[in-house]
Amino acid sequence: MNTPAAIELNLEKIRKQFPVLHQQVNGNPLVYLDNAATNQKPKRVIDALTRYYEHDNANIHRGIHTLAERATKAYEETRHTMQRFINAKHVEEIIFTRGVTESINLGSSSYGRAFVKAGDEIIISGMEHHSNIVPWQLICEEKGAIIKVIPLSEVGELDLDAYQKLLSGKTKVVAVNHASNSLGSINPIKEIIDLAHQVGAVVLIDGAQSSAHLPIDVQALDCDFYCISSHKMYGPTGTGILYGKKELLEKMPPYMGGGEMIKDVTFEKTTYNDLPYKFEAGTPNIADVVALNEAILFINELGKENIANHEAELLSYAAKKLSSIPSVRLIGTAREKVSVQLFVIDGIHHFDIGQMLDTRGIAVRTGHHCTQPLMERYGIEGTVRASFSVYNTKEEIDLLAEGVERIVKFLK
Ligand code: PMP
Repeated sequence: MNTPAAIELNLEKIRKQFPVLHQQVNGNPLVYLDNAATNQKPKRVIDALTRYYEHDNANIHRGIHTLAERATKAYEETRHTMQRFINAKHVEEIIFTRGVTESINLGSSSYGRAFVKAGDEIIISGMEHHSNIVPWQLICEEKGAIIKVIPLSEVGELDLDAYQKLLSGKTKVVAVNHASNSLGSINPIKEIIDLAHQVGAVVLIDGAQSSAHLPIDVQALDCDFYCISSHKMYGPTGTGILYGKKELLEKMPPYMGGGEMIKDVTFEKTTYNDLPYKFEAGTPNIADVVALNEAILFINELGKENIANHEAELLSYAAKKLSSIPSVRLIGTAREKVSVQLFVIDGIHHFDIGQMLDTRGIAVRTGHHCTQPLMERYGIEGTVRASFSVYNTKEEIDLLAEGVERIVKFLK
């Protein structure tokens, strides 16, 4: 893994690489603070997409002509780069999907179909995205298995004592996020994984919010599955990966049937392809996978630690500024966080806050952030969410705070 020494990032140079940032929205310079939903793409990622379509576009694996060979090579190169990015032992443990949602569905339905039975238990946490709740509910409904939920504290930290009490010989799967898209909490996944393994359960980690911010070493973590979305790490939408341990993936049945995932087909019987192709039926999202390579290189060149340090500084600056505004209440104040901050203003609906900020060119997210059970835990319907990326600045947070302050003055 390429990890440059700790450096102060040159924000001006970084911002220049993101064309979308340089525009006016509603008459004001865009302040993009919706990075947990999707972050923006550097020019090199956009160029990789164009280059692919202008020079190399062909279907992969099946062709012997030059373009097909070039396209296949570029697609497979991303698999190798991703293998190094998460330190997977084998390249065939990287399966391309449409993103975390599909990765979790692949994991839950394939593993679940083969190994979960009536009366088994699946443990998730109280801060999961709907993508890491509903797929497990589907398999539980099908199999007669039961979902158990790890509770969390008021500040937004998982209760590990309660988790240990939930674990038993009945636990088949533990599925938790590495970092929460709502609270920002970074979960102690190594401990969660080790405890799950003691009762023989497999662990799936939802890495949607960690891949651009936290170091990931799937061998050191010893997780069984790890899910990543390209679009949350400066890459294109519509692609991502499921990492799975080879010995597990080999035992799991295919998720989708079709071209590429087969060795031999007759009307009587089909034999399946080797990993990773057994799980990659049909023509994949080739161009976006090819461009994802550039996104990983972008992160590697800046250094995840440098990105994380910059974002941590932004987060604590934002938390301080926002919490000093009368009637603003922060939600999610765990000790270890990625750069996501929820807040509410008592008496003002979060949609109104989002809309009023948009008139000032400030993009934030409002609503339940696909974590309705978590909102229920806090007795609220939704919040405003500001989330920061490597290209954000303290001046942008000043603009956010100024905007929020004016809303409070105007509406209260
Ligand atoms: N899990 C978490 C924690 C997320 O933040 C998201 C995206 N908001 C997802 C899962 C789903 O990811 P995607 O929409 O990329 O499939």
